[in-house]
Amino acid sequence: MTDTLVAERIEANLSRLRLPRIRQILDQIIQSAEQKGQSYLGFLDDLLEEEVAQKEQRRIETALKISGLPFIKGIDEFDFTFQPKLDRQKVMSLFDLTFIRQKGNVLFLGPPGVGKTHLAVALALKACQAGLSIYFTTMPDLIIKLKKDHEAGRPGKGRSYYKSALVIVDEVGYTPINRDECNLFFQFVAKRYEKSSTVITSNKAFSDWAELLQDPIIVTAILDRLLHHSAVINIKGNSYRLKGKSMNAIQ
Ligand code: ADP
Ligand code: MG
Repeated sequence: MTDTLVAERIEANLSRLRLPRIRQILDQIIQSAEQKGQSYLGFLDDLLEEEVAQKEQRRIETALKISGLPFIKGIDEFDFTFQPKLDRQKVMSLFDLTFIRQKGNVLFLGPPGVGKTHLAVALALKACQAGLSIYFTTMPDLIIKLKKDHEAGRPGKGRSYYKSALVIVDEVGYTPINRDECNLFFQFVAKRYEKSSTVITSNKAFSDWAELLQDPIIVTAILDRLLHHSAVINIKGNSYRLKGKSMNAIQ
């Protein structure tokens, strides 16, 4: 068989095996292996590493696209010096993702603009990079989805917001919900309890949740489950959105 025929067959096989990156870089890697006098093992290793790296990159890109994250920002973009009262070590310790392995929850509390969503997004990003499934939703959106599923007689089985290893529910408490909605939220929390991790952000203290979520008894049951295995991060500080602006400028 001539070299050209062999090359053509390799190309066809790489396509059938869905190894596009190897197809792309094969010539270049062969050339550099010949120049370096590389071992067969080293050559094969280089090829496979390239393909795996590209597949991993694609997986992360796709997962992030369908996750619903409102923006992509990592913890490296979070300026801790802007929130001097925030316990940096406590926050950073979450990023080893042990809480997800332990099916625990994280609750970020604080006024608008202090970085609650940013920190939740950064955790999701880290989890996604570690190969875990993630899903981001706001409380109003979640309630809409839960209601739809409830009305359709589907309890939400198989839905990303039930089955993802990490679900973020952003902005709990911004808008009040009624009793039925509160009940659906309770069922959501109860289903995920000790099975997978949920990150909640809220601008309201727990003491105000009863009023916002209408039903004090159910709220107690919700908090009981959410807080059982949890880290609560209370952020007391200024809004990053107003950074550099004087109070006069925003009045
Ligand atoms: P919250 O959810 O608490 O209202 P966000 O997380 O949405 O606040 O933060 C508002 C904006 O400010 C976002 O663009 C976020 O990335 C940015 N931000 C907030 N805190 C910080 C910080 N400490 N360092 C860098 N960016 C920050
Ligand atoms: Mg927010």
